[in-house]
Amino acid sequence: MINEKINNCCCCKGKESLNKIENDNTCPVCKASGVKVKNITVRHLVVDTLAEFVGDMDYYICMNEECNIVYYNPESGVKFEKQQVKVPIWFKKDANPKYACYCSKVTEEQVIDAVIKHGAKTIKDIIEITGAMKNSQCQKNNPLGKCCHKIIQEAIDKGLSMK
Ligand SMILES: [Zn+2]
Repeated sequence: MINEKINNCCCCKGKESLNKIENDNTCPVCKASGVKVKNITVRHLVVDTLAEFVGDMDYYICMNEECNIVYYNPESGVKFEKQQVKVPIWFKKDANPKYACYCSKVTEEQVIDAVIKHGAKTIKDIIEITGAMKNSQCQKNNPLGKCCHKIIQEAIDKGLSMK
């Protein structure tokens, strides 16, 4: 209780907002630094009923797995939560299914399975076994707007370490 009061006092708040100006990519809810995501990605992934609020600006994505916020723009104050995005965000808590490749809808579990049951070791093996990374449209389908290559590699590593 006392700590709360100290954190909410006017001088501390002032400090916080100074930091924000220097580094305005922080999530409005959890204050973690976000990663920049292009407008085309956000426009494609926000649910249709809210699409009109997306506008034409770029966004940040909150990488904190505990936080409900997905996309936000610190200047306009527009933000979208997990439930307002069409796909589960793989690095957020309780993402289900957990996609490794959003374009071909291949899950992390399928990649790990391919490693453990079918002996896949490389991205090329995964592409052959699961069909991941075919018809790649990552800028529209992946929540970060980036190629899923890195996520698949991480899933392979996870699978290999479970062997
Ligand atoms: Zn957050």
